[in-house]
Amino acid sequence: MKRRRTSGIVYLVGAGPGDPSLLTVRGQELLRRADVVVYDHLVAPQLLQLCPSTTRTVYVGKEAERSSAASQRAINRLLIREARVGRLVVRLKGGDPFVFGRGGEEALALTEARVSYEVVPGVTSAVAVPAYAGIPVTHRQYASSVTIMTGHEHPDKPQSAIRWNELAKVSDTLVCLMSVKTLPMITGKLMQYGQAATTPCAVIERGTTPQQRTVTGTLKTIAIRAVRAKIQPPAALIVGDVVKLRAQLNWFETRPLFGKRIVVTRAAEKATALVQQLEGLGAQVEQLPAIELVPVAHNGLFQDAVQAIPQTDWVFFTSPEGIERFVTMLKPFRKDLRWLVGCHIGAIGPKTAAAIEAAGLHVDFIPRQFRQEGVLMDLPRRVLDGKRALIVCAEGSRDVLADGLRKRGMRVMKVPIYRAVVPHALRKHVLTVFKTPVDAVTVTSASCVEHLHRALQSAGKSALFRRLRFASIGPVTSRAIRARGGRVFIEAKVSTIEGLVDALSKMRR
Ligand code: SAH
Repeated sequence: MKRRRTSGIVYLVGAGPGDPSLLTVRGQELLRRADVVVYDHLVAPQLLQLCPSTTRTVYVGKEAERSSAASQRAINRLLIREARVGRLVVRLKGGDPFVFGRGGEEALALTEARVSYEVVPGVTSAVAVPAYAGIPVTHRQYASSVTIMTGHEHPDKPQSAIRWNELAKVSDTLVCLMSVKTLPMITGKLMQYGQAATTPCAVIERGTTPQQRTVTGTLKTIAIRAVRAKIQPPAALIVGDVVKLRAQLNWFETRPLFGKRIVVTRAAEKATALVQQLEGLGAQVEQLPAIELVPVAHNGLFQDAVQAIPQTDWVFFTSPEGIERFVTMLKPFRKDLRWLVGCHIGAIGPKTAAAIEAAGLHVDFIPRQFRQEGVLMDLPRRVLDGKRALIVCAEGSRDVLADGLRKRGMRVMKVPIYRAVVPHALRKHVLTVFKTPVDAVTVTSASCVEHLHRALQSAGKSALFRRLRFASIGPVTSRAIRARGGRVFIEAKVSTIEGLVDALSKMRR
């Protein structure tokens, strides 16, 4: 729904230095309410996903790069026009809007046009990028002042506005933005005005993102090292003794999965925990949901199972989705969890158990090995003989548990209540995701593997399946990989998401 106000407003919002989670709470709140977002090329694309689908997003990065007065005027006019028709306008800028962001110029234009505005400061790259490279811009021992400067002066300037002479002497730490192309000039000037050629320096490219790269050296060597490393903008140059601290404080680039590109194939609604844990260890995660869960069409089987519950001794759930959907499916029968009174409840693993407990039921049994075989191993025959069991599961799930329980003398009903299907977009999606090399593909079920295999096959990329480095959640999934000619690169010792993440974190660097 478009909000119309009698008077609009422009928020000059800092988007942070690159990592989308470094946006401020205020910035997030405004993006969620924006009618129009006018953004630059350094803004993390994920931030735009915070906006409602009705928000108009306008990219002005090209104009900003040209940085001519005319294109800045065009941006100012756009902001004024949108605010005047009553819209909530977010002007989203990389880092902080008032640090080399031309935010000041836009605020002046808005003042002149009598358009209301507010400034929402952001985490500036000038401080955050060195921080992510393990370099504090000030430090008791090494630096009690810091200067933020531009390495890219306005081309129209007749003379340099940078007072090199003073800069070289006064500031302990120098942070130079927009400096990739002018590194030789900047470092040359600093040495010319008396700064030691041995002063430690660092250049950090795409700081705070999984693509961060850092090159270190001295005033004398840094320019050539940056060229050799093919450093590209955006990058920041840091000059000063604080750079020495990186040897001890390089926390970000040394995380176990830093720089690794890892594909997550779980269903989108189930992927959050895995994605967060991998990202927390520094991985660059690509989501490629190979599964979509849909309810099984209502069938007589479920109704029979519900009716048989008062005579049932054990109810086994094989996944968290099973219990969640089961509760929903009881409703049309005017029943709730009280209907399970007298049943023992079994969960196949800790996640399923947690979902059952969250639904308000106590779990009586979890096997030591989190798979169907585990239940058979751990439940003694005398507990089961002559009893009735209900297994709530996904369609197509293995018969191991049902068969095994029957062999132990139980009467068993296996009721599939949801189905894993291949998402429509998977075939197209695999082609884009695998265009760039990946370090590991996580698979958390045999159907994930099957769907991925099928999608690659139909995209004419069967050979790729055999080359992928699979990280498997456990032996059943691993078997599905090998059965299709794939390679199990890593297998979790404990078949849980945590187990998988743990195995991945020990991946060779
Ligand atoms: N307003 C922004 C700066 C805009 S000028 C801020 O406060 O951060 C653009 C310059 O910022 C780039 O040329 C680069 O020098 C620096 N910069 C921005 N994001 C960066 C990043 N992720 N890594 C390294 N430098 C970055």
